[in-house]
Amino acid sequence: MIVAREFAGRRIAVLGLARTGRAAARALAAGGALVVAWDDNAAVREAVADEFRLEDPAAVDWQRIAALVLSPGIAHRFPAPHAAVERARAAGAEIVGDIELLGRAQPHATFVGITGTNGKSTTTALVGHILAAVGKRAEVGGNLGTPALSLAPLGSDGIYVLECSSFQLELITTLGFAVALLLNITPDHLDRHGGMAGYIAAKRRIFAHRRDGATAVVGIDDAISRDIASALRREDWTRVVPVSVRAAAPGGVYVDRRGRLIDATGNAPVAVMPLAEAERLPGPHNWQNAAAAYAAARALGVSAEAAARAIRTFPGLAHRQELVATLDGVRFVNDSKATNADAADKALACYEAIYWIAGGLPKPGGIASLGPHFGRLRHAFLIGAATEEFAATLADTVPFTRCGDLATAVARAAEAAQRDAVPGAVVLLSPACASYDQFADFEARGEAFRTLVRELAAMPREQPR
Ligand code: ADP
Repeated sequence: MIVAREFAGRRIAVLGLARTGRAAARALAAGGALVVAWDDNAAVREAVADEFRLEDPAAVDWQRIAALVLSPGIAHRFPAPHAAVERARAAGAEIVGDIELLGRAQPHATFVGITGTNGKSTTTALVGHILAAVGKRAEVGGNLGTPALSLAPLGSDGIYVLECSSFQLELITTLGFAVALLLNITPDHLDRHGGMAGYIAAKRRIFAHRRDGATAVVGIDDAISRDIASALRREDWTRVVPVSVRAAAPGGVYVDRRGRLIDATGNAPVAVMPLAEAERLPGPHNWQNAAAAYAAARALGVSAEAAARAIRTFPGLAHRQELVATLDGVRFVNDSKATNADAADKALACYEAIYWIAGGLPKPGGIASLGPHFGRLRHAFLIGAATEEFAATLADTVPFTRCGDLATAVARAAEAAQRDAVPGAVVLLSPACASYDQFADFEARGEAFRTLVRELAAMPREQPR
């Protein structure tokens, strides 16, 4: 845990007591601050009542509060600021987030910030994996996994690799990243940013506090991020490394038509590795993550060879195209993180003969956009609230079965894949839906899939024909 001493002896309010807020309250209290805490959810308050001093923001004397630490889940501007934010602002209290506090508590460490609409977690984990493989002292967390203030203190020879959501970036006021990485920008969370312009502005904040010698790694495959890369060059960022999986990126890192990772940051482009060798990073979307992580690692002094070796051995993240088992030649892949059609699209693009488990709580637009993949769907197994909507979209194009729940879907999909015995068959859970109608969250859904597949693996099966 980090000990945040800068507010020693002063009063600090922490709003939001999920993992991030609790970590912040502990780090500040350990550093000698007088912490008053609150969460609008009574059940959360009850769970932490023994540990923290709870005070309703409506009753707090804000004149006496030095800073308000906000959890990323709490609105501070759009759609409307939380009442506590308005009170804090009116009283002149500083409003900060956990990543900023980590930056101040560890001023001599090196910081890598990673953002983008999609691929943040994968890229963050991959950068961490590369650094660990070459023996650098690194801690990985932020929006992914461990909250920033629960990470270990590293000091001057350490590197913090932090996944930063747009909400967290809005709460950074001074921290400058040695490597600031933006993968891509597509519309998301627009309600929380007052529209697309607000969302772009939030993402762009990853570059707001430039350090000497800093490197900006920017995916240039969408128009918005490409514009940002050009603007950074105009603003004279020390080093801007463009990343592309669509076209050659002069001076940057890209993936060529043959799927090779090309490093063009030196005098002449060098072919580093075929990305097909990175088995846990399938598909061009993951190649974008791999190329960006490679560029970040190079900027941190890792050799091309060592980075390539580590990319090959990346174990992948749970619930993102995670290969759970191969039974009689059929792969069972857990892509429970695909909570919308866009994410499912990426997974569906990677396989040829798909037994698709989909459904849950549908998102606007459903699965209409996935039409280009329907030809490779051998059969769809529908679950949850989305069943009738998805059935209507698949209608006469893709054979489907209404399965109700995940256990039935896994059993039916396994039977069908085993019966058909087509080469390259995949039973793919990539639901294109939120999980909340049947599960606590996407992790619980993925765990359930894993358990069901393992049970299947333990059962006696027919020999493959
Ligand atoms: P995030 O942390 O930004 O949500 P993840 O690494 O957890 O991203 O990936 C979530 C899903 O987004 C993946 O399952 C995949 O479908 C999709 N995805 C991953 N990387 C990319 C990318 N670079 N571009 C577009 N989609 C991606």
